[in-house]
Amino acid sequence: MVVTMREKPLKLLWLEALMRRLLKDDVEFHYYQEQYRRLDAGFAGEQKIDRVWHELIYPNTFFVLHNVCLVNTAQHLHQIDTLFICPQFMLVIEIKNIHGRLEFDQHTHQCTRTKVDGTVEGFPNALTQTERHIQFLKDFFASYSLPVEGAVVIANPSTIIVNPSNTLPIFHVSGLHKYLQSLFKKHPKKIMTDNHLTQFVQGLLAKRTIPQIHTTIAPSRFRHGVLCPKCSYQNNMYFHRGIWKCSFCHYRSIEIFAEAMLDYRLLVSHCITNQQLRAFFKINSNDAATRLLRKFQFPYTGTYKDRVYHLPENLLEHMKKFY
Ligand SMILES: [Zn+2]
Repeated sequence: MVVTMREKPLKLLWLEALMRRLLKDDVEFHYYQEQYRRLDAGFAGEQKIDRVWHELIYPNTFFVLHNVCLVNTAQHLHQIDTLFICPQFMLVIEIKNIHGRLEFDQHTHQCTRTKVDGTVEGFPNALTQTERHIQFLKDFFASYSLPVEGAVVIANPSTIIVNPSNTLPIFHVSGLHKYLQSLFKKHPKKIMTDNHLTQFVQGLLAKRTIPQIHTTIAPSRFRHGVLCPKCSYQNNMYFHRGIWKCSFCHYRSIEIFAEAMLDYRLLVSHCITNQQLRAFFKINSNDAATRLLRKFQFPYTGTYKDRVYHLPENLLEHMKKFY
């Protein structure tokens, strides 16, 4: 059995940074807040379902891949929440963590959620999404005869599913084990050996793509500086003798700088100069900024005066080593 770790999608990290920094009176604040809420709930739902795999007792090798992003021939992205692969079949799982009453209209393909207070909202139809992924995987791996199955799993136990499709199964997470058992019965024949399966999965992982954030928010629309987490990121911290201090609640931290740098990397740029560091983080001293940049040993290009520091992808872990 192999269960890969689920990492926060880049879009969610980006929205988290934006929620810390976007000005509350920004015209798009509520728009991004709603996007953040949906994505955060979705991620929480996926984590809930991940626990099920660890309880699965199955004698053969199987793989559970999370957030699998592949590009089809038309250059459109397929972002699959979970992909279960065993020698008999593969299963695409679309996970929804939506509370309330979830209704599917078979004619319009519209999915609506009705909250307890009666508010009705439209959601992307998970069944249509899953069917799209199934067809794509069938085409993508046409040379393998591994059957492709799909299901929509609801992570929130209180959700009421209304008018589910008769073409694709949709059920609560508690039904996942039973559904897997039914698939093992439906596809008893092993199509691949364990070794072949491992090679197949390695090939699939090599084809993965990382979806990029294409939205840019003008820096004038968000708060600059190192923001105080104890003040819900509403107040600035100032840098004094190597320590960041909140000007409002007097909270002190050295490590908080890493989080602020991550915000900078997510929202502004993957590169930073001494001057940009001083401007963004409101550091007056040139020497203090130089010391900070040197302390974390970021890779750089350019000579001393025009030096550009490159912020690595694993920024938090990288910076942790130097505290
Ligand atoms: Zn504070």
